[in-house]
Amino acid sequence: MNNKIPLLPFSAPSIGQQEIDAVTAVLKSGWITTGAKATELETMFCEYTGCRHAIALTSATAGMHLLLHSLNLKPGDQVITPSMTWVSTVNLIVACGATPVFVDIDKDSLMCNAELIEPLITEHTRLIAPVHFAGAPLDMDDIRSMASRKNVALVEDAAHAIGTAYKSQNIGSQGTAIFSMHPIKNITTGEGGMFCTDDASLAEHIRRLKFHGLAVDAFARESQGRSPQAEVIEPGFKYNLPDMNAALGVEQMKRLQEFNQKRQLLAHRYHQLLTDVDEISPLSTPGYDHQHAWHLFIVRLDIEKSGFTRDQFMEALKQQGIGSGLHFRAVHLQKYYRENPPPGLSSLPNTEWNSDRILSLPLFPDMQIQDVERVVNSIKIILSGNKK
Ligand SMILES: *Cc1c(COP(=O)(O)O)cnc(C)c1O
Repeated sequence: MNNKIPLLPFSAPSIGQQEIDAVTAVLKSGWITTGAKATELETMFCEYTGCRHAIALTSATAGMHLLLHSLNLKPGDQVITPSMTWVSTVNLIVACGATPVFVDIDKDSLMCNAELIEPLITEHTRLIAPVHFAGAPLDMDDIRSMASRKNVALVEDAAHAIGTAYKSQNIGSQGTAIFSMHPIKNITTGEGGMFCTDDASLAEHIRRLKFHGLAVDAFARESQGRSPQAEVIEPGFKYNLPDMNAALGVEQMKRLQEFNQKRQLLAHRYHQLLTDVDEISPLSTPGYDHQHAWHLFIVRLDIEKSGFTRDQFMEALKQQGIGSGLHFRAVHLQKYYRENPPPGLSSLPNTEWNSDRILSLPLFPDMQIQDVERVVNSIKIILSGNKK
């Protein structure tokens, strides 16, 4: 590793003085756990996405856990989700005692669609959990109408989709969607998630499950003068987002548009500069009307033509001081799932093809256009040094 080259990370949160001041104010306020700031962040999500109910949680994973728990899954119940996703969803399906059924993806968008999902639906299907990928939206009209025709519950994994719109509606405006505020996502609370839904009874259930299954949480007891000993309605969990984190999220939400505009500018420059690099192909973007949030800039390496495996190529980028990410190694190819394949696992050719070839190039709001040029120049140098 050449220590003289400054490292360009693949992602970094953008934290300004306003975030530092807001978190400091919470620390000095005397109330640092879930309270007024968490409520403010929930209200901002409702206003921004157009959802009726938003529940702040410690992670998107927590949101998926609560949703799966609320379905009361029994052994043999099936949940359809792509294998091209973060491991958390599949881990939780298994941890809740159900069977993951993997849907393959479109080769160039990394997203599933109604046509791919429908043949997998059986009498045991309890939930469909498709993933908006890299900041692009799924083709939701088809997926929604198919799910309602088949009478199966639907949750959108919107971890990549803060600021994504589909046909002029922000993701989260309809149905149930779970956002992530992990530090690499479009806005961050350190760790955090937001459960958005238009279903009032589901929202009430999730609100209860996120705090021990109590009828009201500690803040409601404090601020609304309810009985100090709220009762357990059902056994629940402890997934409430503290105000220290929520205050960070409130400031980040104010900057969401600025962040995503910068991401778009950087992504546009990548597209321009990569057109003449034959061995590197970016993902396609949807043909339907949408607003892309550019969460990730994912490319596929031509491993035949370049003479590199993807892992070797990521290592070569690292030698040039450039970080990269992998979103994602297919879940069914990970050790546990190779050794314990879910019953009925079918072949997933597009998932496997991409799992061997994808990498995410640096993309974050504090990055400069010149950094994009540096990344592409390094890619060209690496590839030209390895011509077959
Ligand atoms: C990040 C991510 C998650 C999990 O989000 P956390 O907030 O870290 O739990 C889930 N699904 C996808 C597709 C993700 O990228």
